[in-house]
Amino acid sequence: MIRVGIGYDLHRLAEGRPLVLGGVKIAFDRGLSGHSDADALIHAVIDALLGAAALGNIGQHFPDTDPRFENADSVDLLEQTVRLISAAGYEIVNIDCNVVAQQPRLGPYLDEMRDRIAKVLCIALDRVSVKAKTNESVGPEGRGEAISAQAVVLLEERA
Ligand code: MG
Repeated sequence: MIRVGIGYDLHRLAEGRPLVLGGVKIAFDRGLSGHSDADALIHAVIDALLGAAALGNIGQHFPDTDPRFENADSVDLLEQTVRLISAAGYEIVNIDCNVVAQQPRLGPYLDEMRDRIAKVLCIALDRVSVKAKTNESVGPEGRGEAISAQAVVLLEERA
């Protein structure tokens, strides 16, 4: 039995914040605003995993009203999610992601993001794909107001 899940997230870009995507710090003059470290890519991955297992969504497990998650490292939240997925009896087959950002150019960081995600998910690097896109200068991502991310994950029930 296999199950598919989809995740999406968007955070606004703001001055005075570090930019963290896929658990990787990225050199840029602005970062994503949010309660946690606002790592939109990791948040999309978490929602895809939870969705595939029909275990709700990121806001139910890690509410942004909870002071425990203020400035949280989203990779820690992903680790907790992986434990939930495993406890529910699933293994992760593969994951594919898009990050939509007009700036900065993310190409040089993609392999490091894949490596970070693969390690946390405890799967081989060739099972993790992260792709970057601009938004052709239109919409909130294209105007540099926000960065968004999408993830699709496949789970398999453990034999
Ligand atoms: Mg988020």
